[in-house]
Amino acid sequence: MNVTKTVTIVGGGLAGLTAAIHLSKIGLKVILFEKNEYPKHKVCGEYISNEILPYLDWLSLDVSKLKPTHISKLEFSTSDGTLINCDLPLGGFGVSRFALDDFLCKKAIENGCEIIQDSVNDIVFKNDTFTISTLNNGNFTSEIVIGAFGKRSNIDQKLNRDFIQKKSYWLAVKAHYSGKFSNDMVGLHNFEGGYCGVSKVENNAINICYLASYESFKKCKNIEDYQSQIIAKNPHLKSILEASKMIFEVPLTISQVSFDKKATVENHILMIGDTAGLIHPLCGNGMAMAMHSAKIVSELVEKFYTYKIKSREELEKRYIAEWNANFKKRLRIGRILAFILQKQKFYKFLMKILINFPFLIPIIIKQTHGKPISLK
Ligand SMILES: Cc1cc2nc3c(=O)[nH]c(=O)nc-3n(C[C@H](O)[C@H](O)[C@H](O)COP(=O)(O)OP(=O)(O)OC[C@H]3O[C@@H](n4cnc5c(N)ncnc54)[C@H](O)[C@@H]3O)c2cc1C
Repeated sequence: MNVTKTVTIVGGGLAGLTAAIHLSKIGLKVILFEKNEYPKHKVCGEYISNEILPYLDWLSLDVSKLKPTHISKLEFSTSDGTLINCDLPLGGFGVSRFALDDFLCKKAIENGCEIIQDSVNDIVFKNDTFTISTLNNGNFTSEIVIGAFGKRSNIDQKLNRDFIQKKSYWLAVKAHYSGKFSNDMVGLHNFEGGYCGVSKVENNAINICYLASYESFKKCKNIEDYQSQIIAKNPHLKSILEASKMIFEVPLTISQVSFDKKATVENHILMIGDTAGLIHPLCGNGMAMAMHSAKIVSELVEKFYTYKIKSREELEKRYIAEWNANFKKRLRIGRILAFILQKQKFYKFLMKILINFPFLIPIIIKQTHGKPISLK
């Protein structure tokens, strides 16, 4: 591979770092901009589907070094506390974003990637070249730019992306706790106005992360009130919260979480991870999808630089087609689930069905998860 070719990646979360590791492994020069320092906690359920393991292996990323938990069971409860247990079809592992993103960053540096801690202000495409302007390091040029700037970024505003114009109904809260919870279980517990994921990560920490509608949240004064008045109405969440002690000083929060459709390529930037579309976290699968999309884009960029793909237009078309083939259906199902959660009538109907026919849960999960990623 011609190492004089540089690929620029904007955003160093799971998607951006995975693409950086992949592209550097095949011999390309990579510059990645990340506005934050590593390690850093992130709002995330921290349960990763095992579908990603063959790819991590190919990237020489041995996540067992992070001592993750191995999760094979799902505990699901409705807002009134009806409990359903089932096995997860493929299973997954629990590891904090604090540890995982940092692990990936170190691997990217070891592979020779240049990681610049800076915020990108703008990305302009002119005369077949991108100019990337940063807050503190001036301007950079690149033939290819991969957009990996997450759910919502200043760059989305600069690009005037459609989803950024619309209101979003969700916010999310996460913290680590000490206490008792099974190592092999992920809990998905509904409450009026949202759902809460509970699972163990490394160091015996319990990750409690919930997504809540603004509608329900604005009825309370603060997070503490919300947890005691709304979330604790679900008896399982009540007992989990009562038996756990927060390790973080304060919980992390994010707002304006949007599950709207996003363009896969915009202004010629190849979007990966949440920048291309966020799946509802109830499907527990965004991280695997972020890494998988990094694989797809990296393989196509390799073809572009070895002249198997003849033009930028072909590169963009093929990326959109492959992205749709892998993720479009999963995101649609995620959006339907998000819609049902918002509508009490539909929600109660769906819960009734699941309580009576619990074997449907693994079937729904399979629809939103991929198969173990195959490597050519
Ligand atoms: C409440 C909640 C729970 C979830 N739970 C799970 C779960 O249990 N399992 C699962 O698989 N998925 C889960 N997800 C989804 C998962 O967190 C995301 O899909 C995943 O983080 C996507 O990674 P990413 O790299 O696309 O984005 P991110 O990890 O958000 O990375 C984007 C990066 O870009 C950087 N950035 C942004 N703008 C700029 C800029 N201008 N310049 C430089 N850097 C910039 C940011 O600092 C950030 O580090 C959950 C999501 C939510 C909201």
